Amino acid sequence: MSLNLILMGLPGAGKGTQAQYIVDKYQIPHISTGDMFREAISNETALGLKAKEYTDKGNLVPDEVTNGIVKERLAEDDTKPGFLLDGYPRTLEQADALAQMTEDLNKPLSAVINIDVDPKLLTDRLTGRFICKKCGATYHKLYHMPKVPGTCDVCGGHEFYQREDDKPEAVKTRLKVNIKMNTPLISYYKDRNLLFNVDGSQSIDEVWQKVDQILSSL
Ligand code: ADP
Ligand code: AMP
Repeated sequence: MSLNLILMGLPGAGKGTQAQYIVDKYQIPHISTGDMFREAISNETALGLKAKEYTDKGNLVPDEVTNGIVKERLAEDDTKPGFLLDGYPRTLEQADALAQMTEDLNKPLSAVINIDVDPKLLTDRLTGRFICKKCGATYHKLYHMPKVPGTCDVCGGHEFYQREDDKPEAVKTRLKVNIKMNTPLISYYKDRNLLFNVDGSQSIDEVWQKVDQILSSL
């Protein structure tokens, strides 16, 4: 049986961090719309130029653009054993579009895991985040430092960067935009009996134990 998952949570909740553990253990592709936009922006494609107008300021990219890239991605062969969507859907329109895609592709959702964190904790999480340039592994200057300072635990890389939209001005807009959309989306999946809530204010390891418990029980 395939494992078709959505990882939900506000920016900074810990989706990317938990996604690394999930894809490693369950061997399904990690589909992060944020990563897809960042890659398009760095390659200066037409999609990237369009997305940049929105991502730089912390606003959402229009639904028709985002739905289009997810539809193409889900149709790829590597999603046969399942997939992990991270950062999508973020609006009810996207949730409806995804329902249509999963029906057309005959890939019904297995579960939606919502990492729940008090928004008050998120500014710190986002402004302290830094990322390995070579492999994309995520760290935090207070909560998750590399084991050897200056060296990525995953790939041994030595260069790190801060995301443009993790700077304080964009963080404010991102949290505002995403908090507004979050509650109706949670209700959407609760009503469809797909929602599992995890307390994301615990340590990274504790959150992973809970997430893994849920996934093993599906
Ligand atoms: P998201 O993908 O949801 O935006 P990330 O996984 O990138 O969030 O996590 C945001 C920041 O918070 C990163 O710097 C990460 O190292 C840190 N972080 C993730 N989970 C936790 C946690 N449970 N406790 C403390 N810090 C965390
Ligand atoms: P993330 O990496 O998930 O924090 O996303 C970074 C940025 O990409 C967001 O602030 C949005 O501008 C854009 N983005 C990512 N996912 C979506 C989505 N599902 N809908 C609209 N915009 C998105």
